[in-house]
Amino acid sequence: MKNLKTSHYSSMIKSICFASCLLICNTAVQAQNSELQNVHTAIQLATDSLYESLVEIRRDIHQHPELSGEEKRTSEFIYQYLSNLGLEVKAGIGGYSVIGVLKGKQPGKKIAWRADIDAIPIHNHGAGEAAAKKDEIGHNCGHDVHTAIGLGIANVLAKQKEHIKGTIYFIFQPSEENYKGAKLMIDDGLFNVISPEEIYAAHISPMPAGLIASKPGYLFADYKQINLTFKATEDNNEIADFVKKRVSELQNVAADSKFWDNSSLMDPNIGIGNPNTIFKDFVTVQKHFKVEENDGELKIIGFISASNEESISAIPDQLKAAFKESKYGHLLKDVYYHSNMIGYSTERGNIDNDEQLTLQTINTVANIYGPASAIQLYGIIPDGRGDDFSYFQQQVPGTYFLMGGSNFEKGIIAMPHSPDFSVDESCIKSGVKYFASMLVEQVNKTDESVSLKD
Ligand SMILES: [Zn+2]
Ligand SMILES: [Zn+2]
Repeated sequence: MKNLKTSHYSSMIKSICFASCLLICNTAVQAQNSELQNVHTAIQLATDSLYESLVEIRRDIHQHPELSGEEKRTSEFIYQYLSNLGLEVKAGIGGYSVIGVLKGKQPGKKIAWRADIDAIPIHNHGAGEAAAKKDEIGHNCGHDVHTAIGLGIANVLAKQKEHIKGTIYFIFQPSEENYKGAKLMIDDGLFNVISPEEIYAAHISPMPAGLIASKPGYLFADYKQINLTFKATEDNNEIADFVKKRVSELQNVAADSKFWDNSSLMDPNIGIGNPNTIFKDFVTVQKHFKVEENDGELKIIGFISASNEESISAIPDQLKAAFKESKYGHLLKDVYYHSNMIGYSTERGNIDNDEQLTLQTINTVANIYGPASAIQLYGIIPDGRGDDFSYFQQQVPGTYFLMGGSNFEKGIIAMPHSPDFSVDESCIKSGVKYFASMLVEQVNKTDESVSLKD
């Protein structure tokens, strides 16, 4: 996961701990009459007794970070751990991946959990974080935590086999940071080897530990580089000014509005947790453009972000039509999105959560662990970030959760890619419990029980 406007996201999320209680109107409804109630109790007990060992695993991986494509040691550890649990284990699909297959006592649905395992080229200076044994490589995106949680879920669910109708796949994915791993795995036949009907993942975020959140559809704004090319003339400066002005007018958010105020993002009335959020339908344009002239061609480069694909996809054609009509129409060559912008390839797409599964799973966790454990978001975070989990979502419906890892009282802020990234390790415990319970509920849902509930 990457982020471009770290400070924006960071300070807005800080207020979530104060606002989260206000976001939730419904009261906790304990999962009643559920035949799985005992399983959830068993999951909680097993997680509590496993917790310290998972923290040790996380710290070990933390001290031995491996960059994308180099996750040899990490994957060997995962392979051994899953084998010891008695799972069927497959490795090496599209790189240093490991897949654990947990078959329930009875046949049924097949679902998958994805954890990413690679580190990034940043040294970790986070408070309370043990230094990595390699300079300039660190788990500043929390994939060490994701790995520990994935192993923890596999461990507690391996003990519940007789209550599982179906199969749960644990996908430990390498090379998330360079957005190559998921695609490499798919291209190497992942979905010939396993055939999940649903897929889930969680990413550490600056929300407080103990809280998870998601929403149907997009979570993050789409973010694209737009290129506008003209025949170069002596009027280049005027053309560039004209184009910048016209592109900037696409922004539908006033420069002095609350949209830009960080604290608004988690404001109970206008923030992303409120159905009437102001972060719902927006287009923003970066102030700074780049202007280049090469071989008689004038190229103006800008950056646009938008809350939905429809708005952002329509923009090049809209601009083309507008410029054709203008006095520079005869000089216009093309208007197009740069397809290979690092991290923002059109092919990879955006995280796009399945509506039904997302609402269902948030409810499941909130019902079992209380309303402060899982909340639904309504707004789009105006931040160009992504995760190549989107490649999996293109093939299998599922949900990408944000998982809180901060503890503001202790000064622990789990801001991915920050040099000061640090994490409240208690999120490993809550993560294992929430997602193990969620997976066991999902895998045991028959088509009948789903349609009855709806
Ligand atoms: Zn990440
Ligand atoms: Zn990352």
